[in-house]
Amino acid sequence: MRAALILLMFFAATGARAQEQDFSKVGVKSTPLTANLHMLQGAGGNVAALVGSSGGVLLVDADFGAIADKMRAALKADGASGPVRYVINTHYHFDHTDGNLAFAQGGATIIAQTNLRTRLASGGTIGGGSITRTVPPADPGALPGITYESELTVYLDGTAVRVHHYPRAHTDGDSVVFFPAAHVVHMGDIFVRYGFPFIDTNGGGNVRGMIAACEDVLSTSPADTRVIPGHGAVATLDDLRTYTQMLKDTSALVAKAMAAGKSLDAMKSEKLLGAWSARYSPEKGFVNTDTFTELLYASLSLPAARHGPARRPHP
Ligand SMILES: [Zn+2]
Repeated sequence: MRAALILLMFFAATGARAQEQDFSKVGVKSTPLTANLHMLQGAGGNVAALVGSSGGVLLVDADFGAIADKMRAALKADGASGPVRYVINTHYHFDHTDGNLAFAQGGATIIAQTNLRTRLASGGTIGGGSITRTVPPADPGALPGITYESELTVYLDGTAVRVHHYPRAHTDGDSVVFFPAAHVVHMGDIFVRYGFPFIDTNGGGNVRGMIAACEDVLSTSPADTRVIPGHGAVATLDDLRTYTQMLKDTSALVAKAMAAGKSLDAMKSEKLLGAWSARYSPEKGFVNTDTFTELLYASLSLPAARHGPARRPHP
């Protein structure tokens, strides 16, 4: 919930004011998943940290640069004796990539899907429904040094980490990162636990792609897989299944209303998605029921043909 509030604050703030956020009181919490794989939670999105046999580290996402030193301290406490060697970004949003520069300056190679690099380099307007936030181009030093199109495997001291692109999901440059040996997957903001998810439709996101990505993870992951969401506590495949069903049911309802010629305003005033509000819409949360209705409407207004992800084998 705290992460959702921080996100809301960032979206409400101007770019300049966001720079002035006070990170001094932010702590980094580490949750062990295996002996050498942890989930770190600071001020932004959840970070996965794999410590290799050499002591070097692979991170999935980078949180905010202002807490990079606190993250390094947490990594040390978790057994890291070397530098962060790789950072894989799940998507371009600042609460997942702002720390890129700090880790790149420490020698890390930033890795991401091609579309992420383009969006980070150009800046632009993150947006969907009534939520928008304009972000400046990233510092060139924060940009990925390696990009990939659809699939990539990174080996940290021989341990395979599989990176899989799902087209047009939370954004158009999403990576889901699998740790096959640990039965752990980091889904970025395709799966969040603060309520209804945000979908960056300006950034090429679409609920159809989010559903397809969730279904692919559900159908290909071992039953005991632990799922790191973009925000919130570590989850099970059952949690992901419940969330995926919500995405499918709410989408189907909006699609049906659209087919019947109902306007977006009518869907909101009639509280079309009211049955999910108690569970998924926090009182003054980041994505309330009206906003989520807008995000689904925007997603489903686009042609479906563009959103089927190619299914490819992974772990
Ligand atoms: Zn995001």
